[in-house]
Amino acid sequence: MDTDWSLRAEAICAACGGHCCNGACPPLSSERISTILAAGDYSSCIETDGYRRIRTKENGECAMFDAGRCRIHAVKPETCMAGPFTFAVTGKTLEIYLKQESICPLVTHLKADAGMYAKQYQRAVDHITRLVAALPGEEIAIISAIPEPETDLVATIPIRDETP
Ligand code: SF4
Ligand code: SF4
Repeated sequence: MDTDWSLRAEAICAACGGHCCNGACPPLSSERISTILAAGDYSSCIETDGYRRIRTKENGECAMFDAGRCRIHAVKPETCMAGPFTFAVTGKTLEIYLKQESICPLVTHLKADAGMYAKQYQRAVDHITRLVAALPGEEIAIISAIPEPETDLVATIPIRDETP
């Protein structure tokens, strides 16, 4: 990610207080689980409840959220890397959504910078595409059924069938 933008985004998210890290339960591919476990002893933060994910603490925060920051920022889950874009899969279509400005101050900054919007959009699509390709269909179905209010559909992308 562009370093200037990355620093700006970190500051904006810190000022926001990690709103989207509340009750996030971000999904994890097997590869991302290995990467996270290689980065530290985080096995107690990972659970399976319909799909493999980061657990939520009793106070509603993501188990990786600590003192206003993500403890695994460099290796965080694919959907966290993709933020403020999010996704659902309907049939053979990948739907990309963007959080509304009312719930995510970062979106206002992205919309004000067309170049950065395009970069983060592409980054989000890359992360989400890899995640969707890595997860079993049952997990994708459960994740896609989770309501994501206050988001807008910004793109639909056909999912290629990789089976020979
Ligand atoms: S992505 Fe948006 S909602 Fe999440 S912490 Fe950053 S500014 Fe807040
Ligand atoms: S893994 Fe990090 S960025 Fe993702 S929801 Fe948890 S605290 Fe937030």
